[in-house]
Amino acid sequence: MDVIHEDLITTDAVPYLSSNGVSVSVLRTDKIHPVISGNKWFKLKYYIAAARRSGKTTIITFGGAYSNHIVATAAACNMYELQSIGIIRGEAPQHFSHTLLNAQQYGMRLHFVSRTLYKEKIIPDCLLSEDAYIIPEGGYGTLGAAGVATIPYDHDKFDVVCCAVGTGTMMAGLINAKKQDAQVIGFSVLKNNYALEEEISKLVIHADEKIYLNHDFHFGGYAKYNAALISFMNELYRQTNIPTDFVYTAKLFYGVGSLIQLNYFEPGKRIVIIHCGGLQGNLSLGKGTLIF
Ligand SMILES: *Cc1c(COP(=O)(O)O)cnc(C)c1O
Repeated sequence: MDVIHEDLITTDAVPYLSSNGVSVSVLRTDKIHPVISGNKWFKLKYYIAAARRSGKTTIITFGGAYSNHIVATAAACNMYELQSIGIIRGEAPQHFSHTLLNAQQYGMRLHFVSRTLYKEKIIPDCLLSEDAYIIPEGGYGTLGAAGVATIPYDHDKFDVVCCAVGTGTMMAGLINAKKQDAQVIGFSVLKNNYALEEEISKLVIHADEKIYLNHDFHFGGYAKYNAALISFMNELYRQTNIPTDFVYTAKLFYGVGSLIQLNYFEPGKRIVIIHCGGLQGNLSLGKGTLIF
């Protein structure tokens, strides 16, 4: 059986990104599994445990055609011998994305619903059964955040923790796990989604935590990119051997680098960037776009 290797996670100093008096390390949670990588595993683990504990045999979850959460859920269910059903936003496309094809290969049943119905998150009667356990879209929820809080790294070594934000579940989990005087900074990959702060706060245990969410590095919105982002990804890889994806981690690394150049951080700060995987998302880029 396929396994998750949490023990493969490393914290690597990255001199190339360190300047203006701050040091940068990268936490490579992307190494644990090629598909259920990074935060997707940590967000899923307690949902899957809860489903198994209550004797459920089927997981139902939601996502778009390019959702890392969908394919990670499919792979994790395959690993734990659970059935999986993905409720996918929009009509069935003529050509399936890599994400959907992969999910299907892991045995996920795909059920397409119109965008309007999808918004309501109603599960069609034909799919519901007593054996079904529902994981919210993107793994958003307290169990998701609790799983993220178990991401292993040395909390004493860092003053600032930086992560990408989609639903905000990961950011909330990192805030809940941080030491008191550390700061977590999230980089939203969505355009002007100012509801996120509230969504994150709902999952944060200490009510008075300030949410530091940056909205400046979305590059036009979810899964949007430009030539500057692609050349940044290639240069980062050339210099550090760290692969990033254009939906999440490239925007995160770009954002952190920009803030360092702007002297946003006081000299002496020790930053850790959470590399949370998502690399299979790059499959939708044309061949030759990336050097990795
Ligand atoms: C899903 C994903 C995120 C977003 O995580 P949230 O908990 O939804 O904010 C960030 N980075 C990568 C690589 C992801 O796959």
